[in-house]
Amino acid sequence: MSAIQRSKLNDGFLPKGAIVMAKKSKRSKPKNLPATVSTDGLPNDFESLQADVANCKKCKLCETRHQTVFSDGSNKAKLMFIGEAPGEQEDETGKPFVGRAGQLLTKMIEAMGLTRNEIYIANIIKCRPPENRYPETEEVIQCQPYLMKQIELLKPTVIVALGTCATQTLLRTEETISDMRGKYVTFDTGKFKTEHFMPTFHPSFLLRSPQGKKQVWKDLQVVAKTMGIKIPHQKSV
Ligand code: SF4
Repeated sequence: MSAIQRSKLNDGFLPKGAIVMAKKSKRSKPKNLPATVSTDGLPNDFESLQADVANCKKCKLCETRHQTVFSDGSNKAKLMFIGEAPGEQEDETGKPFVGRAGQLLTKMIEAMGLTRNEIYIANIIKCRPPENRYPETEEVIQCQPYLMKQIELLKPTVIVALGTCATQTLLRTEETISDMRGKYVTFDTGKFKTEHFMPTFHPSFLLRSPQGKKQVWKDLQVVAKTMGIKIPHQKSV
């Protein structure tokens, strides 16, 4: 590998680093969520579902959003990334993961030899929580059916949950992301089930703690293997 290639990797997604533990967030997480989420009555195609979301006023986040943020990527993708909620730039553009964390996610996807057009990205919450606070319980209860329906329509081979909120909310667990990351668990919406649900760190956490990139890269290599994706030689660690 050339010095330039090394430099690119070290400036980007694959720096050298020690093992880190996820820092405990001071934000308060949604609690006491119901065990099941129903998607009954929601549209059976992406276009109509997105239109429903665009007009949704089921929780108070509709009052402060500029626009809803439904998804990015391909409706035919077999690899799905799920984050928490839109931030400021996502709220302005209507696209998930376009800020600094989103740019890092794009690098991660490209390091796997993929583009954003070949995967599907969505969040649990479709409208920006003010000041990027955690979504509240009622907001998750109202909004999560949209995400569940997206999963049921997409039927992904692998789901990558980005960060504590996505992982704990979707799995209804209190286990830390440090304990859960890197190991596949089963995820079941009731109408769609996969054995390949991979929790890993959120790109925002990696911006604060770049050492964690090494662990995320390990997790994504497991995902790539499951998907039968051959990671480009120059991208290997
Ligand atoms: S966050 Fe979800 S439930 Fe709340 S208004 Fe937006 S789309 Fe509707």
